[in-house]
Amino acid sequence: MEIADQLKSILGQKLEEHKSLREFTSIKVGGVADYFFEAETIDELVKAIQAAVNVDIDYLVLGGGSNVIVSDFGYPGLVILNRTSNIGFLQDKTQVMADSGVYMAHVINKAAAMAFGGLEFLIGVPGTVGGAVYNNASCWGGVISEYIRGVTMLLPGEEKGERCRVVNIEPQELKFGYHTTLMKETGLKNPGRKPVILSVKFQLTSLRREEIMRRIKNFQEMRMEKQPIGEFSAGSIFKNPSGSALTGGQEEKNFSAGFLIDQSGGKKFRVGQASVSKKHGNFVINNGKATAEEIRELIDKLKAQVLEKNGISLEEEVEFIGQWERSESEVDS
Ligand SMILES: Cc1cc2nc3c(=O)[nH]c(=O)nc-3n(C[C@H](O)[C@H](O)[C@H](O)COP(=O)(O)OP(=O)(O)OC[C@H]3O[C@@H](n4cnc5c(N)ncnc54)[C@H](O)[C@@H]3O)c2cc1C
Repeated sequence: MEIADQLKSILGQKLEEHKSLREFTSIKVGGVADYFFEAETIDELVKAIQAAVNVDIDYLVLGGGSNVIVSDFGYPGLVILNRTSNIGFLQDKTQVMADSGVYMAHVINKAAAMAFGGLEFLIGVPGTVGGAVYNNASCWGGVISEYIRGVTMLLPGEEKGERCRVVNIEPQELKFGYHTTLMKETGLKNPGRKPVILSVKFQLTSLRREEIMRRIKNFQEMRMEKQPIGEFSAGSIFKNPSGSALTGGQEEKNFSAGFLIDQSGGKKFRVGQASVSKKHGNFVINNGKATAEEIRELIDKLKAQVLEKNGISLEEEVEFIGQWERSESEVDS
């Protein structure tokens, strides 16, 4: 049986073929996924991953698509769009349990309505719970790992047809670092078989609703002032060489990737329809019709420029997804 037929026999008519991924990413570039499935429940998410293991093809779980750059050649496997949506509150413990497909903004706003606060610093991060935990999202001096109390994960079978396992793990087992986790590090080596976050429990704090709303407004205003909101981007392209989420203080500015790009003259760089934001040097913008190749070429140029002018080798925070024409060794040389 053809792979498509095998997948359809497990996932039904919701399985799509040759689906453009562009609209599912915030930077709006990328080719098609061979196979595409939108998971609306945890059961569907698990089933889709098991299906990929059964037919022995790679899979990729996509949340908000706000930290990825998908190749123009697309993704050779099954892309699972995570739209799981359950969210529940443990009122006596000030805790919230959310499916990994819930957007962080939704968690923050729902919690605010319950007078539970803590995660407001992440307002404006346009990703899901799964993507935020996977990348240990941080900003304005706050980091998501400090609020996590439990994670339910799916560990994929390694051999064709092997059963996937659902496990509950303690947060420290994820080994959080600056914009990274153990699953991100190991996943980069075997991207088609990454463990998947199913749901997360966060510890919040009881606060006055007005205070939470004030904080949300404050963080939104800071973002509007410093970042190109409303343009097509993947957020910060590079990690800050200082190795931490900036609090906004002047003293750390010299160690931010944005500052280094600005100082090296990189803000003027442009490749086709891809350019650097005038507002923030670490944001690469798709001006409408950029290709993934143009975005990547611009990123490589910025990296080379900062290395030449400052002797600092910037490391990408965003992930390149799918097949790229050139190999990594060609890019490095
Ligand atoms: C305008 C803008 C501002 C941003 N500001 C910030 C910021 O202040 N701080 C910050 O940290 N980031 C920021 N980002 C980057 C991005 O929003 C975050 O990294 C976000 O957490 C990514 O979540 P996502 O759901 O979009 O992940 P995606 O882009 O969909 O996926 C990213 C990676 O996570 C993996 N992944 C997604 N869901 C799961 C899951 N359930 N289980 C396992 N792996 C999963 C994917 O497979 C992929 O490898 C910004 C981005 C934009 C566009």
